[in-house]
Amino acid sequence: MNQVPDHQPLFGKVALIGVGLIGSSLARALHRHGLAGEIVGHARTEEGCVRLLELELCDSAHSDPAEAVQDADLVILCVPVSANADLAEAMAPGLKRGAIVSDVGSVKQAVIRDVDPFLPEGVHFIPGHPIAGTEHSGPEAGFAELFENRYVILTPPPGADEEALEKLSRLWQACGSTVEVMDPAHHDKVLAITSHLPHLIAYTIVGTAANLEESERREVVKYSASGFRDFTRIAASDPIMWRDIFLNNREAVLEMLQRFSEDITALQRAIRWGEGETLESLFRHTREIRRGVVELGQAGTFDPREPEKASTAEPIRKED
Ligand code: NAP
Repeated sequence: MNQVPDHQPLFGKVALIGVGLIGSSLARALHRHGLAGEIVGHARTEEGCVRLLELELCDSAHSDPAEAVQDADLVILCVPVSANADLAEAMAPGLKRGAIVSDVGSVKQAVIRDVDPFLPEGVHFIPGHPIAGTEHSGPEAGFAELFENRYVILTPPPGADEEALEKLSRLWQACGSTVEVMDPAHHDKVLAITSHLPHLIAYTIVGTAANLEESERREVVKYSASGFRDFTRIAASDPIMWRDIFLNNREAVLEMLQRFSEDITALQRAIRWGEGETLESLFRHTREIRRGVVELGQAGTFDPREPEKASTAEPIRKED
């Protein structure tokens, strides 16, 4: 935390409600780039607050959400999606007029539904989602580089304050991200296919392997480098976070799942009837898509907590 900051503070006081992987990465990035005059953290327990101070993530920490947001210019909810409503209600009395409230939740329509009704007049709500993460959780797991070269999607409601949107965008850009503005329903649909369905598939495959006979299961682990390993990393993602994502993006996930089921049935038929051309043509097409991901610089990179993995072809950061 002793690096010389490379920016002037964009906000006087920033309150981070929930300082786990994302909240602590943000705290570290804000410190590194000098983007906040003061950082306040919220943890549910006194021990949690002490831990945030020990890790030097915040200047002060509070277990009462209303106290944490007192006089804050920017408040960012960084908790599991299902916790947003209670926290928004609890922090509302402490919000000052003119404050910007944002979040980092992986679904956007549900967050707007849950948070917006509690926000007092004169508070600007600009929901957001950094498309960056790892399978680790908690305040120790974060790192300042997490958002570098990653997209952050902001989903301002109609008529949102332009200045607030601009200021929040500048904060994320200063953390190294590219900001995109999107309609919340579109966000949820896009993320259902790019993130939510892949996680569901990983959870399913690893679950299927776990149900195999003991001897086969041992071999799955032993020979996991052949593809299974990548699924196990995704399937190690936080159970609460992912429970909330599926329950709060139900429609979009079910629609994508339906399309996926149809496509997998077509592949099943191609394998059954020996239609090699069908398989080869799909695999060539998907290889092109991978090239596009790499060219966009979104293939995953360096996690400073696991530097030994940086030189392998294994992406460590993942898009959540
Ligand atoms: P995390 O590491 O588990 O941290 C979440 C923090 O929220 C915890 O440190 C916990 O703090 C607090 N919390 C948990 N349950 C709570 C509750 N019921 N009420 C109040 N506070 C609670 O999770 P994360 O990965 O940072 O995820 C946070 C948000 O970011 C989620 O909404 C997720 O959808 C989104 N997101 C995650 C990723 C990713 O890859 N992980 C990527 C992009 C967006 P205390 O225990 O100290 O109170």
